[in-house]
Amino acid sequence: MYRTNTCGELTLKNLGQSVTLCGWLQRSRDLGGMTFIDLRDRYGVTQLVFNMDSRPDLCEQARKLGREYVLQVKGVVAERSSKNPKMPTGDIEILVDELSVLNAAKVPPFTIEDHSDGGDDLRMKYRYLDLRRNPVRRNLELRHRLAMLVRNYLSDLNFLEIETPCLIKSTPEGARDFVVPSRMNPGQFYALPQSPQQYKQLLMVGGMDRYFQLARCFRDEDLRADRQPEFTQIDCEMAFVEQEDVLQTFEGLMKHLLKEVKGVTYDAFPRITWNDAMKYYGSDKPDIRFGMRFVELDDVAKGKGFAVFDDAQLVVGICAEGCADYTRKQLDELTDFVKRPQIGAKGLVYIKCNADGTFKSSVDKFFTAEDLRAFAEKCQAKAGDLMLVLCGEAMKTRKQLSELRLEMGSRLGLRPSNVFAPLWVIDFPLLEWDEETQRYYAMHHPFTAPHPEDLPLLDQPERWGDIRANAYDIVLNGNEIGGGSIRIHNREVQNKMFHTLGFTDEQAQAQFGFLMGAFEYGAPPHAGLAFGFDRLCSILGEADSIRDFIAFPKNNAGRDMMAEAPSEISKEQLDELAIRLVPQEK
Ligand code: ASP
Repeated sequence: MYRTNTCGELTLKNLGQSVTLCGWLQRSRDLGGMTFIDLRDRYGVTQLVFNMDSRPDLCEQARKLGREYVLQVKGVVAERSSKNPKMPTGDIEILVDELSVLNAAKVPPFTIEDHSDGGDDLRMKYRYLDLRRNPVRRNLELRHRLAMLVRNYLSDLNFLEIETPCLIKSTPEGARDFVVPSRMNPGQFYALPQSPQQYKQLLMVGGMDRYFQLARCFRDEDLRADRQPEFTQIDCEMAFVEQEDVLQTFEGLMKHLLKEVKGVTYDAFPRITWNDAMKYYGSDKPDIRFGMRFVELDDVAKGKGFAVFDDAQLVVGICAEGCADYTRKQLDELTDFVKRPQIGAKGLVYIKCNADGTFKSSVDKFFTAEDLRAFAEKCQAKAGDLMLVLCGEAMKTRKQLSELRLEMGSRLGLRPSNVFAPLWVIDFPLLEWDEETQRYYAMHHPFTAPHPEDLPLLDQPERWGDIRANAYDIVLNGNEIGGGSIRIHNREVQNKMFHTLGFTDEQAQAQFGFLMGAFEYGAPPHAGLAFGFDRLCSILGEADSIRDFIAFPKNNAGRDMMAEAPSEISKEQLDELAIRLVPQEK
């Protein structure tokens, strides 16, 4: 038997017991007469003592051991003279009387401590060492715990976990597919699933009634910060349900996770329509940990001779409470912030509501104190508050103000990572116009049903942009953590949908034929959603990056730094796959 106990469990209760422990050498201290070693495994750290007087041989041996050596020790549990109340095992130590080195280790390239001296790249290259660090281990433990909670919760509700294939047919809608060449079918390719969408709908046709899967998904997108080319969804689908059933079911799941993991309980999650989310937060994933809702200011801002406002489609502002004492420098910073190319505002107007009831603004030339008071009343700004105003084309301006609102929220400490504010965003637009290709795209995917009230609009091309989807997102702290929709199960509606997306019947048949075919054999009404599991873990883990919650993540360029993937393959492999590489221009 390698061990009797782990390195995290022995306490004063075990005094006098003979034990065998295994683990890695975290640290050793040589005090001449005594040598101390901290032995670490997944469960904790236990202090080992080697005494020069009683066991000079062992003590000599212990002194020579390096960091991260793998050890097995036998000894007796003893009370420590100087206790460490910060460690669960801090009251005891092991008086060692047998030591075996199970494996030696090279000096690790960074310290295996909570705060490592290794940079990101180095830690990714040696991820297996990084995994030995407490913070990374704790993240994976949280991930495991969440996965188990999800599985048990859904299983108790009669959901079946069913695996769907990873080698599937490529479909051009959505993001770019990763493709896999087929050796047995030269010139043909599988795609890796962007999500199990079509299969889960087929499972509903197959009568499975309630399905879920912790599903690996693959999207070959240009990687923005903190996106992974492969990621995990909690993917779900249900038959014979309406939107309300879906929202209730998965709100229940989220409440369960928040209660179990964070100890917080919630009443019904707020719901907001997509239109209102854009109007009041400029975002379809509003962070509602704080207020600072948008106030539209056209009626007080226009007609006073300030051309910038007069010519704008929309003048809209936020009120930052207690910020009237912002300095020139702080206001300049905010102006620079909104003018950054990623945000793209032309400028920022501020109006300070001074403590003495006067106003000071960047547009004093155009507006009287009376005019500015009207702004303040609209924004419900009090003495001491600061109004920040943007203007321009409506949707663009809202998105810009959304960034500013988040920035102000962060500056004012209104977005603490240990507060969780979930909400549903409903009634998304069904279609999104793309200027470049001059056609509509499905905002969610082509199987999303239109809002029942808007069905007739499918026959009115000029109104296509107004059609609402029967779709919903769940948002947590400004992140879309899940989304889904009621699916189209009626062949005629699906045909119309393909028509609005510019597919000919032949194209629709070629791409989605098997699903459409299945729908002709009695598809039940069905609906579902998928959560982004990695992101959910990172938010509940109160961390910014999803990478820290994935055992072996890719870097921002989509590379596995440790295994060095992607990589070239041999000429033989290429030949076998009937692939000829065209030399790339450098
Ligand atoms: N498959 C969808 C997605 O990946 C989610 C859904 O509609 O269930 O976004």
